[in-house]
Amino acid sequence: MRITKNTIETTPGPPEWFTGAAYIDAIATPTGPSRLSANSVHFTPGARTAWHTHPNGQTIYVTEGVGLVQGRGAPIEVVRPGDRVFFEPGEDHWHGAAPTRFMTHLSMVEVDGKGNSATWGAHVVDDEYRAAPSIDEARR
Ligand code: MN
Repeated sequence: MRITKNTIETTPGPPEWFTGAAYIDAIATPTGPSRLSANSVHFTPGARTAWHTHPNGQTIYVTEGVGLVQGRGAPIEVVRPGDRVFFEPGEDHWHGAAPTRFMTHLSMVEVDGKGNSATWGAHVVDDEYRAAPSIDEARR
C-alpha cells in the first residue's frame, strides 16, 4: 500500500496539447503491471485540448461545469456533470470547457506498451470551437 498525500503540485496543461489554460491533477500513474493513467483535468472557460487520439481509448467523466466534446467529422456535443464519454482507440477527438464555463473531468486511459497515453495533433482553432451549440439550447 502506498498513500500519496495531497502534496503533488497541480501541473499546467502544456501549450502544445491545450489551447487556453488547463490544469492537471494526477490520480493514478502506470506502475508495475498497471497501465491505468487517471487525471483530474480542470479547464478554464474556452480552454480545450488539441485534436488527439488514445491508443487504448479514453473515458472522461464530467464532475464540474459545462464541457464540449467532438469526434472528427461529428458535431460538437455539450456535456455536464455526471455525463461520461468513451473515445474509441484511435478516434481523433478533443474535449474542453464551454466558452463561458469552467469544466472539470476525470480522465481514465490505459497507456500502450511504451507508456504512451495519447498522440497529439493540431490545435482546435477558434473557427472549429465556435461551431459549438449554445449551452443553453443544449440543456436537457
Ligand atoms: Mn482525449
